[in-house]
Amino acid sequence: MVEKVLILGAGIAGLNAALALHRPGREVIVIDRDAPPPETSADEAFDSWDRRGVGHVRHSHAFLARLHNIIRDNYPELLKDLLDAGCREIKFYENMPVEKQAAYVPVPGDADLTILTSRRTTLELVMRRYVARQPGVTFMPSTLVRSLILEQQGAAKKVLGVNIENADGARELRADIIVDAAGKNSQAIEWLREAGATISETSAPAGIVYFTRHYRLHDGVEEPKRTKAPGAGDLGYIKFGIFPADNGCFSVTLAVPEVEMEIRRAVVRPEIFDGICAQIPGMAPWVAPETSAPKSKVFGMGELWARWRSMVNDGAPVALNFFPMGDAVIRTNPLYGRGCSFAAVQAHVLADALDETSDPVARALSFHAKVEKELRPYYNDMLKQDASAIRRAANALDPDYKPTLKAKLIKSFADDAIMPAARADIKVLRDFMRGFHMIDEPGKWIKDWHNVTTVLRFWLKSKKAKEAADLYPPKLGPDREDMLNALGISASADMERLKAAA
Ligand SMILES: Cc1cc2nc3c(=O)[nH]c(=O)nc-3n(C[C@H](O)[C@H](O)[C@H](O)COP(=O)(O)OP(=O)(O)OC[C@H]3O[C@@H](n4cnc5c(N)ncnc54)[C@H](O)[C@@H]3O)c2cc1C
Repeated sequence: MVEKVLILGAGIAGLNAALALHRPGREVIVIDRDAPPPETSADEAFDSWDRRGVGHVRHSHAFLARLHNIIRDNYPELLKDLLDAGCREIKFYENMPVEKQAAYVPVPGDADLTILTSRRTTLELVMRRYVARQPGVTFMPSTLVRSLILEQQGAAKKVLGVNIENADGARELRADIIVDAAGKNSQAIEWLREAGATISETSAPAGIVYFTRHYRLHDGVEEPKRTKAPGAGDLGYIKFGIFPADNGCFSVTLAVPEVEMEIRRAVVRPEIFDGICAQIPGMAPWVAPETSAPKSKVFGMGELWARWRSMVNDGAPVALNFFPMGDAVIRTNPLYGRGCSFAAVQAHVLADALDETSDPVARALSFHAKVEKELRPYYNDMLKQDASAIRRAANALDPDYKPTLKAKLIKSFADDAIMPAARADIKVLRDFMRGFHMIDEPGKWIKDWHNVTTVLRFWLKSKKAKEAADLYPPKLGPDREDMLNALGISASADMERLKAAA
């Protein structure tokens, strides 16, 4: 019997689901409301592919080592296609502090810390073409999923198919497996809730607003050499990052804390955006007029939330034959660059769950348990870090803020222990990055005897000795007041607003 799989959404989760699930004996149909990609180059896809269904498609994306490794290990031809199209692999040592690179000796496992970078449209275009070539997979573009077809089975909703609408009219499509990969605005969970399903969720604000602008290097001009001034960092009032991409392109993202209303208002103006970049030593050489030219407006995006929805209630699945994945079920703060890796992991654990058994209840429970095991630790770790970043951003605007002893210790541990240790000791850096890239569990690195003793040893060292050994990064950029004064933005309006609110 052929098992029919409907995938709702052809974004990153939908494409990963099609990759992981297609095999002899399965028919996979990927439905998306948007038009198919143009039959053109990566550049034209960036300029003209109408992806209304993915509002953030033209924001900076970097693809963590976990996603890179999934593609490398399972779809080597896809990796080749991506590299041929200009996507790039950035190796572990290339992201090291530049002064450490000369002394670097690779160890087995470092290849697993390679990341993939490109414009998101390029990754999606190449993946989509690759998926479309796979036997048994068809795409149904320009087709809106309108509702789910449901039947009650015990306490659960059994999903039998979907109602769709496209240029040919409205009709129903039935299937054995329905994968909801329709992104953060997917309606499927709401449709289930309206039908009486209890789907719990927790959410928390990311506390930032994203601003991205794309640039292209001039012909014949190389990317600026990495220097001591990092291309990504946190000034407190702005987090910044350079995202090297494909075909001579790169983008800059400025993530502004939600409480920084004045900066948020101003930064969408291209001259202010570029003015901020010009004042940050790690970014200035990239956006200098002799190096590159802007290729886009400043894209802004707010309402960034972390959200986790649970499809199991009191140990029983709330829906059968229905598997939500990607942003439809777990959203993460984009700053960590984890969303696409989360989606790829979910797609592969779903393939495992479906292979284990044909029993719908067992499949649902197995998928749920695997997702919890694989992804929950990273999600919880992110929530903790987000809550503390939100507190820090609010404190930065409060002139009367006096840090508690605990807050001082936490800051000192990060700045005077972890950071210098990671700059001095490649194993500390490597193990820390293995957690960041979702290869190891977060926090595993600090349980290692060598790492914990190294970090503590550096904490006990005097600041002067660490400065002499060049173990602190250089100043990332101007203080808030200097930056805002230079740009003609009021540095005090937000402080006054917060004071009045208090
Ligand atoms: C600003 C920003 C920056 C990010 N940066 C990174 C990063 O650097 N690295 C990273 O890994 N992740 C990043 N993420 C997260 C990542 O982009 C998401 O996790 C990822 O897009 C989730 O994929 P998805 O397939 O679930 O959803 P999407 O990619 O949003 O795709 C959903 C698809 O469903 C379709 N669809 C929706 N509704 C319907 C319907 N009713 N009928 C038919 N089709 C429908 C849409 O057209 C779309 O194609 C970022 C997110 C944001 C917001």
